[in-house]
Amino acid sequence: MSDYEEFDFETRAVRAGQLRTAEGEHSEAIFPTSSYVFDSAASAAARFSGDQPGNIYSRFTNPTVRTFEQRLASLEGGESCVATSSGMAAILATCAALLKSGDHIVSSHSIFGTTTALFTNYLARFGIDTTFVPLVDNSAWEAAVRPETRLLFLETPSNPLTEIADIQSLAGLAKKNNCLLVVDNCFCTPALQQPLSLGADIVIHSATKYLDGQGRCVGGAVVGDSELVGKEVYGFLRTAGPTMSPFNAWVFLKGLETLTLRMRAHCSSALSLAHWLEQYPEVSRVNHPGLQSHPQHELAARQQTDYGGIVSFELKGGQSQAWRFIDALRIFSITANLGDAKSTVTHPATTTHGRLTPEQRQAAGISDGLVRLAVGLESEQDLQADLARGLAALQI
Ligand SMILES: *Cc1c(COP(=O)(O)O)cnc(C)c1O
Repeated sequence: MSDYEEFDFETRAVRAGQLRTAEGEHSEAIFPTSSYVFDSAASAAARFSGDQPGNIYSRFTNPTVRTFEQRLASLEGGESCVATSSGMAAILATCAALLKSGDHIVSSHSIFGTTTALFTNYLARFGIDTTFVPLVDNSAWEAAVRPETRLLFLETPSNPLTEIADIQSLAGLAKKNNCLLVVDNCFCTPALQQPLSLGADIVIHSATKYLDGQGRCVGGAVVGDSELVGKEVYGFLRTAGPTMSPFNAWVFLKGLETLTLRMRAHCSSALSLAHWLEQYPEVSRVNHPGLQSHPQHELAARQQTDYGGIVSFELKGGQSQAWRFIDALRIFSITANLGDAKSTVTHPATTTHGRLTPEQRQAAGISDGLVRLAVGLESEQDLQADLARGLAALQI
């Protein structure tokens, strides 16, 4: 816990966790050091035995990384945060620390593709089974729970369809069945949604996305209570080693300082562009939680403070029209990353979801005409004109 808990979110995003050195630096220092020096042999022994708190080695702790961890823990409302080398390392560390052979996971179908691969290709090898269910079907979640279920896993809003899960109700299901609810909060960030306050046990981040906010570094984090995260996940991390580098931690903690302002801008432009796209006859459907037409609009309004920066939409005419649209854009970058100041565009059916069979894609709602936008921080007028350029290039 940092010294700033009594202050508002925006203040904690700028101030929490800072450790000022004797130099009196105003901006946070970076500590690129692999190990730490002890005053005496006795003090080294005391550190190693745990009798004396303090740094030993940067796979265990590092002051810059700790500042990022304390700041993010404060923003998510968690007792403990453990920073990791990537978002995937955060998910792996959580599962490896808290599960054992014979345990069972119930996961949303609509999660990051690599997370699906981690569950089915790797955790399965160690005797951990996963059942996938539709994100918004609470009765399917309930039906999938077994006596050996230990963990429920989801992302909300989902990618790329922006479906919304009812965190509070799934937290109730988790509690009733004595398992943990883990929420990947990558799309909302704590600026829009704080799953722990809705009853989730653990929050996962790919810091690579909005926490960095400018597409520079790969990193991740796990947030939760001091037992599960502070002890168990941390224990795995210092043993297995996917720690965050101090330089990356510094980039992320500076990213947190502007998080609220950036998220507000991402959300505002995304909602306007979603409304604007809805009026085009070439566009058969627009997915954004802020639209009245979104099936979980009411839930999103209750659960989030804003609707997020991701918009997806379906073009009539399938893949050829989608590719024509994408290739005509001048501002949106064709890249799978998101949460960047630079707007990005992807064709999920042939990239992020390209390895699914056509049947799996259809079940996941990923049509050939679907285009995903991650709306950045450029001028909204310029972005709208860019989308108009894409629509003008379609073959009618
Ligand atoms: C990118 C992403 C991840 C994986 O994070 P990395 O930092 O790329 O390892 C996990 N979950 C979601 C929702 C993501 O978008």
